[in-house]
Amino acid sequence: MGVVEREAARPALAEVCHRLAAEGLLIGTAGNVSVRLAGDDTGLFAVTATGVVLAEAAPTDITVVDAGGSVVDGDLAPTSEVGLHLNLLQRPDVGAVVHTHSPVATALSLVLDEVPCVHYQQLLLGGAIPVVPFAVFGSDELATSVDAALRGKNAALLANHGTVAIGPDLATAVDLALLLEWACTLYWHARAIGEPRQLSAADQQAVIEEALRTGYGQRHRREGATS
Ligand SMILES: [Zn+2]
Repeated sequence: MGVVEREAARPALAEVCHRLAAEGLLIGTAGNVSVRLAGDDTGLFAVTATGVVLAEAAPTDITVVDAGGSVVDGDLAPTSEVGLHLNLLQRPDVGAVVHTHSPVATALSLVLDEVPCVHYQQLLLGGAIPVVPFAVFGSDELATSVDAALRGKNAALLANHGTVAIGPDLATAVDLALLLEWACTLYWHARAIGEPRQLSAADQQAVIEEALRTGYGQRHRREGATS
């Protein structure tokens, strides 16, 4: 999704909530999603409202706020994590934020200080996944430490709380939130039967170079395609 204006953002965010709930990442009212608006709404952000059952989110459950978190449009108060979202959305390269209490990633957040890089697809998340120390939900302390952890990373776990994934646009942030839960599930299964091998720095670098060379993960025409 490129430029997002207010009236497109509301149904898009509601639809994303339905999908993430169907995938088991958003449970009940736990979790929240935001997206940067553009066009006539540049400088504003659409966020899920607090207390919404996300599997049933409607476009009217999306609140529009400015960079300071003041409500510009909408009848419902924004998520209590609005500060965490806005801290990240200040960065020009961040267009959307997904916060979940997804079950496996959250389970790992109870135990680990970092999820090591054990699969090359984790490089899309930034490699090893940091675990941000516990701070009360909605606090400035949590927002600040998540912001710091996501320098050079697209995903983090929040100790004894949940997850955050960021992307340049809504579709990418959603994909990365799903990838994060997949990577955490993989690590959990492997760890249950032994000590997972980590990818060395050299292995990670080789994958990055190959991905850049071949455009891994991006649709492109095969050689010799005629139509
Ligand atoms: Zn939370």
